[in-house]
Amino acid sequence: MQPKEQLLSLKPYKPGKPVEEVKRELGLEKIVKLASNENPYGCSKLAKDRIVAELASLQVYPDGYAAELREKLSGYLGVKQEQLIFGNGSDEVVQILCRAYLSPETNTVMAAPTFPQYRHNAVIEGAEIREVQLINGNHDLSAMLRAIDKQTKIVWLCNPNNPTGNYIPENDFVQFMKKVPSDVIVVSDEAYFEYVSASDYPETINYLVDFPNLVILRTFSKAHGLAALRIGYGIADSSIIQAIEPAREPFNTSRLAQAAAIGALDDEHFILECKQKNRDSLELFYTFCEKKGLLYYPSEANFILIDVQSDADSAFDYLMKKGYIVRSGSALGFPTMIRITVGEEEHNKEIIEHLEAYIGSLVERVN
Ligand SMILES: *Cc1c(COP(=O)(O)O)cnc(C)c1O
Repeated sequence: MQPKEQLLSLKPYKPGKPVEEVKRELGLEKIVKLASNENPYGCSKLAKDRIVAELASLQVYPDGYAAELREKLSGYLGVKQEQLIFGNGSDEVVQILCRAYLSPETNTVMAAPTFPQYRHNAVIEGAEIREVQLINGNHDLSAMLRAIDKQTKIVWLCNPNNPTGNYIPENDFVQFMKKVPSDVIVVSDEAYFEYVSASDYPETINYLVDFPNLVILRTFSKAHGLAALRIGYGIADSSIIQAIEPAREPFNTSRLAQAAAIGALDDEHFILECKQKNRDSLELFYTFCEKKGLLYYPSEANFILIDVQSDADSAFDYLMKKGYIVRSGSALGFPTMIRITVGEEEHNKEIIEHLEAYIGSLVERVN
């Protein structure tokens, strides 16, 4: 009873410890989880209202085509309805793309470190993985181009990149797209799209006509605050969408998720407010890092990767004992860095105080 050989090399996703368990073990009253890039302000009330209305129809299968959400989103984005595919989170669209294009005879090119699900799903399909190291947290686009050959099926751009928060500027993106062979799919994963404020960040939708091999991924999990419901989407030329649709489960997104997403799209104000608070909070982290001389990557997302000048796991443990759960860089490819999700203002201030004490304790140890 051996599974596919490639599964033996993969570990199942390791969820963070449940908050309740950490509370009990450490005798803490308050635990703040800043580990999964969730929106600290929840979601729009309009999304919640839609969910409540939808509770009357739980016995009915969802519309597998998500027609109402599709119509709404296509108008919102200015693309044709046939250019959209919905997934149980954008994670599932990653899986669908891998199922549709990757096999043991093919390879796929991605940055490292980047979002782990590209690699994970590609390994399951038996494809060769070509990882190209980041340079100072940025995609090395010329090395990624050199890694492409006749067997390459998908190239992954994570923009902004998780876990560094860096982004690919428009000009670099366009030059890259011009050089990628037109039969290679380029995925631009834009899970943090709504948080970006850089003026030279590409609005990739405008390039779908020039580059019909482009697939854009976005999600309702991050800025829209609907991570629990699992809904994300892909935008591409309709020929790609048509090609990958058979790899999608018929009822992959739920009624509640579709309804909430429709409500969320009506609340631009909520997104703008979250974006502004996130920007302001990132500044707090930058100021702190600069004061302490800690290396960090400027972030276009809702998290920040900070060098704690020591073992990431020991910083993680220290912060957990203070009631803050972050993501240790040891599992992310950055053994001396931690990734902190930007939280509510009060929590950001508090975790910065704890970090300051932690950094101070390192200096004492050295002396
Ligand atoms: C969070 C995240 C996703 C997955 O989001 P879903 O909840 O599956 O929509 C995809 N890509 C990146 C880079 C992410 O950080």
